[in-house]
Amino acid sequence: MIADNLHAVTERIAQACASYQRATGSVQLLAVSKTFGPDAVQQAFDAGQRAFGENYIQEAVEKITALASLPIEWHCIGPIQSNKTRLVAEHFQWVHTVDRLKIAQRLSDQRPAHLPPLQVCIQVNVDGGATKSGVVPAEAAALALGVQALPGLQLRGIMCIPEPAPDFVVARAVFIRAREVFDALLAQGLPLDTLSMGMSGDLDAAIAGGSTMVRVGSAIFGARHYPAST
Ligand SMILES: *Cc1c(COP(=O)(O)O)cnc(C)c1O
Repeated sequence: MIADNLHAVTERIAQACASYQRATGSVQLLAVSKTFGPDAVQQAFDAGQRAFGENYIQEAVEKITALASLPIEWHCIGPIQSNKTRLVAEHFQWVHTVDRLKIAQRLSDQRPAHLPPLQVCIQVNVDGGATKSGVVPAEAAALALGVQALPGLQLRGIMCIPEPAPDFVVARAVFIRAREVFDALLAQGLPLDTLSMGMSGDLDAAIAGGSTMVRVGSAIFGARHYPAST
């Protein structure tokens, strides 16, 4: 079932690329495996998926450890408290949710010297959701420059999680705003290649808006059953 779902999502991405004049292969799929066990990740891996996203650091580290023999690229896409930066720096290849310099500094300091730099997207709050993490667009450039200067990190782009929109047109407009932030950073000379946006419900609008990486969970693994603590 996971293999069939993965295939269907891959088709949906290809379809969206064709519909919105995006080059084939210009949108990467990140499979979001939060709340699902190592067996589900293994099934997706066996179906060809290599990049996985996780939100809850502790849960992720257990999975990463259990699947250490597989050449998986692990992406942290959940909020990061200061006391979790070491686990992120030691276990992940990517992090999408850097939204303040203090966290970036800790990740850089704690990145083990034998590993390549941690690949970083900064999280931008493009639609002004008051309770959400992410820098406001006006502060994105300062944070991006700060991240770029840190030796343990490699700045790759920006990430956003807009509120669910009522329809495609509204959703796409928010994603286009994210792309404008991305383009402004590029215009400043920052070497970015990743615009992380779009989930199961809005990946088509995100691709229309310029996404280069969609983060898809439930469309691949099914509905999530959250533990009571989250
Ligand atoms: C859970 C999550 C996803 C995947 O959401 P689905 O709607 O299940 O595709 C993507 N991005 C982030 C940041 C998430 O927390």
